Amino acid sequence: MSQQSITILQLYPKDMNIYGDFGNVLVLKRRLQWYGYDVTLLTYNPGDTFPSDVDIIVGGGGQDSGQGKIQTDLLAIGGQLKKLADNGVPMLVICGLYQLFGKFFKTASGEVIAGIGLFDIETHGKSERLIGNIITASDEFGEIIGYENHSGQTFLGKRVRPLGRVRLGAGNNMGDATEGARYRNVIGSYLHGSLLPKNPAIADFLIEKAVTRKYGDFSTDIIDDKFATLARQVATKRPR
Ligand code: GLN
Repeated sequence: MSQQSITILQLYPKDMNIYGDFGNVLVLKRRLQWYGYDVTLLTYNPGDTFPSDVDIIVGGGGQDSGQGKIQTDLLAIGGQLKKLADNGVPMLVICGLYQLFGKFFKTASGEVIAGIGLFDIETHGKSERLIGNIITASDEFGEIIGYENHSGQTFLGKRVRPLGRVRLGAGNNMGDATEGARYRNVIGSYLHGSLLPKNPAIADFLIEKAVTRKYGDFSTDIIDDKFATLARQVATKRPR
């Protein structure tokens, strides 16, 4: 039998990839290889042809200007992304792309950057940036640890649930102690760091959903996550 293979698509690496967000792709690739799968990495930038066959979609954060640059292209592929999400394709979008997977981001200077509305969320830019280490708690993934830096404050509508509850830091906004969003197998989060090296439970969720969708079942070999565990211990002791 030929080796089973998973294709990861990174959205907009030229404009949306800050604070090490590309590390999320590397973690998925390496863990998939450890589990015995071949991995194909694809990138998608404005003007590219959207690939017909993808198993996991990942996107990072960016400056307001980068979000402005990708807006038109993102709106053009929004229908395809929503269809894939409704078909159970796992996705992880961080900060700037998380915001644009929502309805809109109104920047602090008043510019409205339209999003694709995959998440029932809206984001309003404020003069104060929310910056620092952050820890949240999730029933699905346990403690989620990372770093946030955003001016946008995100508010969840009725058709979306948060990824985690804030223990340290700000999260979606300064008011309701929520962080991130969940819809089907799509995860949105403000956490850079990158997120996945310190939160392998989320990496394995994305992998499990992708592999089960494509091949019917998935069994994890044991991966020794001692370095991730150590990194988590150190990161939780860091001040805000
Ligand atoms: N430009 C957006 C904001 O400031 C997103 C920032 C980011 O991706 N880190 O809210």
